[in-house]
Amino acid sequence: MKLLLKNGRVIDPANDVDDFLDLLIVDGKISKIEKNIIDEEAIVEDVSGQIVAPGFVEMHAHLRDFNEPQRETFYTGTSSAVCGGYTSIGVMPNSDPIIDNVKMVEEFFKRAKESALCRLYPFGAVTVGRKGEEIVDMKALKEAGVVAFSDDGNAIKEAVMMRDILEATKEVDLVVDLHCEDKAYTGKGVVNAGKLVKEMNLPGISSVAEDVEIARNLIIQEEINGHMHIAHLGSERSIDLVRLFKQRGVNFTCELIPHQFSRTEEIVKEKGVRAKVKPPFRGVKDVEGIRQGIKERLIDVIATDHCPYADSEIEGGITATNLFGLSGFETTLPLALEMVRLGYADYSYIIRCMTVNPARIMRLANRGTLSIGADADITVFDPNKKWVVDLKEFKSKSSNNPYDGDEMIGKVTLTIIGGEIVCRDWNILKQVEKAF
Ligand SMILES: [Zn+2]
Repeated sequence: MKLLLKNGRVIDPANDVDDFLDLLIVDGKISKIEKNIIDEEAIVEDVSGQIVAPGFVEMHAHLRDFNEPQRETFYTGTSSAVCGGYTSIGVMPNSDPIIDNVKMVEEFFKRAKESALCRLYPFGAVTVGRKGEEIVDMKALKEAGVVAFSDDGNAIKEAVMMRDILEATKEVDLVVDLHCEDKAYTGKGVVNAGKLVKEMNLPGISSVAEDVEIARNLIIQEEINGHMHIAHLGSERSIDLVRLFKQRGVNFTCELIPHQFSRTEEIVKEKGVRAKVKPPFRGVKDVEGIRQGIKERLIDVIATDHCPYADSEIEGGITATNLFGLSGFETTLPLALEMVRLGYADYSYIIRCMTVNPARIMRLANRGTLSIGADADITVFDPNKKWVVDLKEFKSKSSNNPYDGDEMIGKVTLTIIGGEIVCRDWNILKQVEKAF
C-alpha cells in the first residue's frame, strides 16, 4: 500500500529537514522524501498549508486502566492521544497496581495490544512500591520491556538513595525520570505560594519545594554521571539551575509541560480545581523565566503530563483533598505553538522537543524521526487552524482540562502509525493491529 503526502512543509529535526517536500509511504515505511513525487499507485493526501512532522512521542502520561478504568483506559487514553498527534507514549508506572515487577510489565503489554490505538511503552517504578526504600530489579524490568524508570508523583527522599539509583542506571543504560519535590516543604499547599494565597485563601506551594530537590539531584549527578531526566520544571530558579549545570557540562535532560509556560496562576481563579496541578501554575516572573529557558533551548522535552481523573473526583472547589493534574493530549501542541508565535521558539525546536528528543531519552531508536526506511509514524498539523476547546469533543474519559472555552491555534489533522491513518480531524478511523 502506498500513501503520498503532497505539498506539505516537512520538518524532521532528527535529520535537519525543514522544506516543502512530498513524502511517500510504501508498506508502512517511509520510502521517499523529495520535491514533486509522482506515483500513480499511491493514495494522495494533499497537505498544503500543513506541517508534516514525525509522530509525536510522549514521555509523561498517566493512562490508568487496570484497577482505575473509571479514570481512563488504554483505549480512551490513546484515543485522546492520537487526536493530539501522539503515536508513541511512555506510560508512567504509578498505575494501580504499580508497574514495579515483570508480571505487571507483561500485563501492560497484553492490555496495550488488546486496546491501545498507538504504541505504548511502559516505565517501571524506580523503587519497589514507589516507596523510595529498595531499587527495583532494573535488569529484569528492562528485559521485560520498560523504557525508563520513575517514581513520578514521589521524589527520592534520601540523597544516598539518589546516588545508588544513578549508579544503577549506568548498569542498564536506561534513564531515571525524576519528579523533584520535597513533600514536607510542599506541606498542605495547593496553589502557587503567591497572590492566590490571599486572594483565594488557600495554602501555597513554594517553588523551593522543587528547586532544592533539583539542585540536590544535579549535584549528585555531577558526581555520579548516571542517566537522568528531570520531569516538569516549574520555576524560574529551576531554569537557572538547569542553565548552570548544563554550563558545567553535567549530563542530563529536562522537560516542560504546558502548565508551566502557557498561563499564569490567574487561570486558577477562573478554572478552579481543573487548574490544580503540580507544579502549580505560577506567577508572571516564573512563567517568563521558564519561557526564557525555551528561548535558550535549555529544554529537551515538551510533555503532556496527561493525568486523568473521574468527574466525581474534580467536582466543587479546590480543597486539600482533590488531586493534582490535568488531562491534556489535545491541548499540548497548540500551547507549544504559542511559544512560536510569541518568539520563544521555532517550529523545528518545538517538534524536536516532542519527537526525537523524548524518543532518544526512552531509547526508542526508530521513533521520532522521518528517516528513510523508518516506520511511517507521522503527524500532520495545521499550525494556523483556530479552534475552541470544548471538552465534550475530547475522547479522554476525563474532563479535567482548564483550557475549556479557550481559543487555540494549531490542530492535528492526520495521525499516521505504521503507514496507516489512525485519526483524521479527530475521528478515529481504525485500530492499529500489532502496534508493537
Ligand atoms: Zn510528576
